[in-house]
Amino acid sequence: YTAKAARTGVEVYSPARDTNSADALGLLSELRQALADDELELHYQPKVDTADGTPIGVEALVRWRHPVRGFVPPDEFIPLAEGSGIMPRLTERVVDLALAQIARWRDEGMSVPVAVNISPTDLTGSELPCVVARGLRAHDLPPGMLQLEITERIVTHAVDDAKRNLAELRGLGVSISLDDFGTGYSSLLRLSSMPVDEIKIDRGFISAMSEGERAVGIVRALVDLAHTLGMPSIAEGVETAEELAMLETLGCDGVQGWHIARPMPAEQVTAWLHERVPAGPALPELRAV
Ligand code: C2E
Ligand code: MG
Ligand code: MG
Ligand code: MG
Repeated sequence: YTAKAARTGVEVYSPARDTNSADALGLLSELRQALADDELELHYQPKVDTADGTPIGVEALVRWRHPVRGFVPPDEFIPLAEGSGIMPRLTERVVDLALAQIARWRDEGMSVPVAVNISPTDLTGSELPCVVARGLRAHDLPPGMLQLEITERIVTHAVDDAKRNLAELRGLGVSISLDDFGTGYSSLLRLSSMPVDEIKIDRGFISAMSEGERAVGIVRALVDLAHTLGMPSIAEGVETAEELAMLETLGCDGVQGWHIARPMPAEQVTAWLHERVPAGPALPELRAV
């Protein structure tokens, strides 16, 4: 992102935005190989209760350690995977890694719910509920330990498939979080019929709060909307103490962001959790107040 690009508002070239470019095709074939070679790993970012800072779970964020290119961020390869048909395998891998980690934490005496991000394409067809059910069984885990984060983009895909799959997943006991809420594609009309258990308010709304009362009012309205629908609200991308204090005032139930903790490898999260819940965390469930 060069100074010139910043001035003209032109974004730096990104292979992910042009899935037919030679670069994108190269990256895609390497991604196939990465799945086979185990180059994907998960980092975990804590979510905490706004009022008292109690950890309530962690979000799994996929990382690709490319042997030559180095770290490739998910925004660069998830869109490629979505456009190519390898997304189901990638998601299956991520779900497996996440469930294995939940089991590892359990074996260490910790109960840590994990949220996994899924793509709209994961909810077409009928595979995901099977993958999740099989994984839960394989690791002998209660389904409530797994949460899936979906985005409003699912309404641009096969909505009926998505609803059926979400209903099936919730039937298993898995909870669903609506990620990046308010960023587009959504309609409030649809929201009332979406089978979700939690709303995550997009980072953009949180950082805008410093602009003044109107922007704060939007966040207040989003928190109240979640509560009206009987769901807890989580703010993502909380970067400052001021934002945290404001979110507490607004009654936002949970928070996540660099101000609380960055995404970290599992071992670091384990240490982080032990510091905050010394007795060995049995993380409480977040509820709307
Ligand atoms: P997301 O699910 O909304 O995740 C939040 C993103 O914001 C993460 O970026 C996280 O590292 C970053 N973040 C967290 N706290 C802060 C903060 O305080 N300030 C700022 N500026 N950023 C913060 P990341 O890890 O690069 O992931 C980007 C997106 O890629 C995710 O957005 C999610 O949509 C997608 N993604 C990540 N992992 C997976 C995955 O396993 N499967 C799928 N389908 N998508 C994934
Ligand atoms: Mg997410
Ligand atoms: Mg998000
Ligand atoms: Mg977001």
